[in-house]
Amino acid sequence: MSQTEVSRMKPPPIPLATLIGRELRTEKVEKPFVKYGQAALAKKGEDYFLVKPDCQRIPGNQSTSYSVFAIFDGHNGISAAIFAKENLLSNVLSAIPSGISREEWLQALPRALVAGFVKTDIEFQQKGETSGTTVTFVVIDGWTVTVASVGDSRCILDTQGGVVSLLTVDHRLEENVEERERVTASGGEVGRLNVFGGSEVGPLRCWPGGLCLSRSIGDTDVGEFIVPIPHVKQVKLSNAGGRLIIASDGIWDALSSDVAAKSCRGLPAELAAKLVVKDALRSRGLKDDTTCLVVDIIPSDRPVLPPSPRKKQNVLTSLLFGKKSQNSSNKAANKLSAVGAVEELFEEGSAMLAERLGKDLSSDRNSGLFRCAVCQVDHPPGDGLSVNSGPFFSPASNPWEGPFLCANCRRKKDAMEGKRPGRPTLTT
Ligand SMILES: [Zn+2]
Repeated sequence: MSQTEVSRMKPPPIPLATLIGRELRTEKVEKPFVKYGQAALAKKGEDYFLVKPDCQRIPGNQSTSYSVFAIFDGHNGISAAIFAKENLLSNVLSAIPSGISREEWLQALPRALVAGFVKTDIEFQQKGETSGTTVTFVVIDGWTVTVASVGDSRCILDTQGGVVSLLTVDHRLEENVEERERVTASGGEVGRLNVFGGSEVGPLRCWPGGLCLSRSIGDTDVGEFIVPIPHVKQVKLSNAGGRLIIASDGIWDALSSDVAAKSCRGLPAELAAKLVVKDALRSRGLKDDTTCLVVDIIPSDRPVLPPSPRKKQNVLTSLLFGKKSQNSSNKAANKLSAVGAVEELFEEGSAMLAERLGKDLSSDRNSGLFRCAVCQVDHPPGDGLSVNSGPFFSPASNPWEGPFLCANCRRKKDAMEGKRPGRPTLTT
C-alpha cells in the first residue's frame, strides 16, 4: 500500500474530537474562570471574610458550580461577624426551593438573600450578644453577579471598557437621607455626639445605640430600626468579563471607587488586592481594619468576540417601550447605556420586608402547612400571618395572600417597622 493510498483512507477532515472540542469551547464561553486574591491589615481585628469558590447548586454536579465571596466588618466585638460568616450562606440557601433550573435559581436568589440576612440576624440576636457587623455578600454564577449588602463595606465592578460602577449602597446615616428618614419614622433618633460644652462632633448616629450605620446584622443593643434587610443588585456581565473589588470601609475611606479600580488594573487578582490595601494605607495610615477581595471573572477561551448585548437590549427596549428608548423613563434602560455591556437584571433596596419577599404563596398545599418565608420552618396556619395582612386577623381580606411569616418572624418584621418595641432592653 502506498503512502497516497493510506492518506486517502484517513477519516474525514472533521473528526469527532474536534467537534467535541468546539462544543466544550462554546461551553467555556458560557462559564468564565473566576480568579481571586485577598489582602488585609488589621487594626482592631474585626474584619472577617469568606471565600468559597467551589459551591454547587446540585451537589456532585460540576456544571452547576458557583462561587461566594463576602466581607464582614464587625463593630463592638467580633461575634456577629463570625456568626454571619458561619451561618449566612446556609441560611440563604435554605430559602431557595430545591429542584429548580439555573434560571429559576438565579431569579430566586435576591429574595433568598433577604430571607437569609433576616434569619441570621434573628438567630444572632437570640444569642443575646451585643456586637454587630456589615455584610457584603457576592454570589457569582457564570456571568451573573448578585450582591447583597448591609452597612458600608462596598463592592465595585470594573468592566473591560474601564467603566467603574458601584454594586452596593452605603448604609451610612451621614450620607443616606432616605435611611435617616426611615430610622426616624421607625422610632429612632438621629444626631451627633454631644461633647463637653455642648458642641456636636463626629458623624450622624442613631439613638439609642449610637451606631453610624442604618443597616447591619446583630446590634441587639441598638434599636430594631437598624435593619438587616440588604440592598440587592444582580447584573450580567458581557463575556468580556470584569473585576470585582469587595472591601471594608477602611479601604473606601481612603480611596474612591475609581482610584481603587485604576490603581490595580492589569495586575493579577492576588497582587491587585495587596496593592489596593497598600494604597489605602499610604493615603490614610492604618486607622481601621482594611480587608480587600479582588475577584476576576474572565473568559476562559480567548479571543472571544463579544456580541453586542447593548444593541440587542436596545432592540428589546424599543420593542417594549416604543422607539425612543433613550428618552424613555425606563430606569433600567438608561442605567444600561451608562454601564456599557453590563446588563442589569435586578435591583431593590427597600427596608420593608413585605416589599422584598414577593407575593407568591409559600405553603405546602398537600400537608396544609405553611413555611415561614424567613426562617423556613413549617407551621400550621394558625401560628402566623401573611406578610401582607394587617396587624389583626381580618376574615374580610385574605390573610394568606403573599408569603407566610411565623409569629416570631412577624414580630421581627413589626419591630423593624417601628410598630412594636423589639426587645425589653430597648429604652427611649
Ligand atoms: Zn419564621
